[in-house]
Amino acid sequence: MAKRDYYEVLGVTKNASKEELKKAYRKQAMQYHPDRNPDDKNAEEKFKEAAEAYEILNDDNKRARYDRFGHEGVRGSGFGSPGFSDINDIFSHFSDIFGGGSIFDEFFGTSSRSRGRRRGTGTPGTDLRVTLKLTLEEIATGVTKKIKIKKLVKCNQCSGSGAADSSAKKTCPVCQGSGEIRSVSRSVFGQFVNIAACSNCDGEGEVIDTPCRKCSGDGRFQNDVTVKIDVPAGVHEGSYMSLRGEGNSGKRGGSPGDIIVVFKEQEHEYFIREDNDIIYNLFISFPEAVLGAEVDVPTLNGKARLKIDPGTPNGKFLKMTGKGIKHLNHAGYGDQIVKINIDVPKKLTSQEKELLKELMEQPNFKGEVKDQEKGFFKRFGL
Ligand SMILES: [Zn+2]
Ligand SMILES: [Zn+2]
Repeated sequence: MAKRDYYEVLGVTKNASKEELKKAYRKQAMQYHPDRNPDDKNAEEKFKEAAEAYEILNDDNKRARYDRFGHEGVRGSGFGSPGFSDINDIFSHFSDIFGGGSIFDEFFGTSSRSRGRRRGTGTPGTDLRVTLKLTLEEIATGVTKKIKIKKLVKCNQCSGSGAADSSAKKTCPVCQGSGEIRSVSRSVFGQFVNIAACSNCDGEGEVIDTPCRKCSGDGRFQNDVTVKIDVPAGVHEGSYMSLRGEGNSGKRGGSPGDIIVVFKEQEHEYFIREDNDIIYNLFISFPEAVLGAEVDVPTLNGKARLKIDPGTPNGKFLKMTGKGIKHLNHAGYGDQIVKINIDVPKKLTSQEKELLKELMEQPNFKGEVKDQEKGFFKRFGL
């Protein structure tokens, strides 16, 4: 796939200032952030594309080369090429790009992002995705669930360091403790210095001489844990919440990932959800519709008595105010909507047939009735 123009990607002009670039990039990063677009490959691509464009344009040298030679001019420089292999690479660069905490600390008001990779503190743990099935009753009021999951937990033997004891670590002989490997390459565009994380120590600058026996130097191990999830009322199918720092532990003291809980709504025996209202199909007999009745209808928390007025037509909606689902973001509840369905029996006893035939001879059941309002005759059902 051909690469899009970096200015076009960020939606800025060729003369855009650094401040404009930063603003444009923040906007894109917010919009296409994976937390906001779970499982959206397209958004992830856009997110990566924007990060790459910003990385190049924000660097004066790279920008100048790009302006002169296009994508060819910045090939092989920094992390901009051949593109990010892992989305976490981008998060690891946010702190470099925006200084201090990560961009998302600022945007999302979280005190610490689990993804920011910091040198010397190991590799961050990955996120875990959990699907949580909920009944409509649970969604209606909110619920606390406990689930068992398998995850990587911090090793209690070495406190996550991976080393048998504090003296069992030594400076990495390959990178001399810097955590980086620099290599110089030459091309027609000049000399480039490539900086990559040291593969011997995973960029930590230290290697373990004697690994912890319990975790074999990883600083964590697989374990079953119980996680408590407070599900707020009013969540929807496919919506999700993040439990910050409750995902897999990081390698050798790295910050933990998150647990992403995705909600799945189970089909209900009686109710159909319509936003925060619930719809119930009620079947009544023809005499009940004509004469009126009081019937029991199921609700999300038991049952309730419902009054049906005399002369209630088929298809009428009756509203039971506040009997629906609690709103997620504001106070109050949705309603329960009862749809009236007049049941037409297919099998009749001979006595019922006789009664109905007799009824048909009566003035209001002759098959033709006078429409009081419009003043003309019409047949039933038309
Ligand atoms: Zn250990
Ligand atoms: Zn090293």
